[in-house]
Amino acid sequence: MKHKILFLPGDGIGVEVCRETRKIIDWLNEKLGLGFVIDTALIGGAAYDASGTPFPPETLEKAKKADAILLGAVGGPKWENLDYSKRPERGLLGIRKELGLFANLRPAIVFDELADASTLKREVVSGLDILIVRELTGDLYFGQPRGVETLPDGTRRGVNTLVYTSPEVQRIARVAFDLAKKRGKKLCSVDKANVLEATEMWRQEVQKIGDSEYPEIQLSHMYVDNAAMQLVRNPKQFDVMVTTNVFGDILSDCAAMLTGSLGMLPSASLGDGSHAGLYEPVHGSAPDIAGKNIANPIATILSFVMMLRYSFSLNAEADIVEGAVKSVLAKGFRTADIVQPGMKKLGTNEMGDVIIKELDSSLALAAVNKIKA
Ligand code: NAD
Repeated sequence: MKHKILFLPGDGIGVEVCRETRKIIDWLNEKLGLGFVIDTALIGGAAYDASGTPFPPETLEKAKKADAILLGAVGGPKWENLDYSKRPERGLLGIRKELGLFANLRPAIVFDELADASTLKREVVSGLDILIVRELTGDLYFGQPRGVETLPDGTRRGVNTLVYTSPEVQRIARVAFDLAKKRGKKLCSVDKANVLEATEMWRQEVQKIGDSEYPEIQLSHMYVDNAAMQLVRNPKQFDVMVTTNVFGDILSDCAAMLTGSLGMLPSASLGDGSHAGLYEPVHGSAPDIAGKNIANPIATILSFVMMLRYSFSLNAEADIVEGAVKSVLAKGFRTADIVQPGMKKLGTNEMGDVIIKELDSSLALAAVNKIKA
């Protein structure tokens, strides 16, 4: 069976980290006979340079035909002074909106081998495995009215609107409850119900769904300021967290740093199943290191692992690729962002190659075990 994957490398290191992930897909096709077919399209600054828009119609058309999408990153100083509607980030917001990708899943897992790369103490983060579920299509980023106006007295007034409807809250709550069901059966919903009415409604709707549909899940609620503090103080108290678009944006970056580097963090954006899921690293286009072959490709490779699980239900294949990443880390191979004394520092390209080498040896080992059995 053919699986159509659309690659949207985007800008900066997006191109470099997608290239390494492509090697893994080619390996799966060649060695395990999986039928991945890859197409590529432009998004972000690269799309603007080629066609005057960060999200060209051809890209949307290809995205609608794909079974899953892998995105690198968008943005960079070159496009920072463009009109807001033409900026690379509009491409990202546009594709999420057009495909109805309302649920953003961001795992923060600390591999034992990397516990010392965190700025927090080893005992606070080692063994950490939390999942932040962020609502992706509502809130201040999309609410109307929005904009900046100049008032008659010459002062300027900026407005963004925090909007959620109860069906929007209920559908993201169900995604989070379902994930909690498959994990530690604990869900913490994060809001600012004490001062923002829209998020007080959020809290009530999440509670209603919990009471009526998921009585087996231990549901708690937390104000966002406390959640930010608790994530740093004692992150292992959490299993799944669900929150609004803006709070999720901030909290997931905070959780990211628990793991040591943005270069290790994958994400998935899913909708109701009528369109492809979108998989992308949490990091941006990192203009400061772009083109230097030093970016860490693991976040993107792990995003592809999420794709194998969530879009294609290829769990055994996902385990093989994830296992190869872990083995490479266990052997002391590191990109510059996570390197420590005594480790072997590799470039982007070389990291992709050692993961392929590891995949080859896991295949050889499996063959030997099969003969022995
Ligand atoms: P960034 O994530 O690009 O970089 C932050 C820091 O982390 C930089 O020092 C960078 O070198 C480092 N870093 C990031 N990814 C890394 C990797 N894989 N390996 C090693 N180091 C890595 O965030 P920023 O600097 O705030 O933003 C740069 C551009 O990216 C901006 O234009 C921003 O709008 C855009 N951005 C895009 C996305 C996205 O496409 N999803 C997300 C965030 C930022």
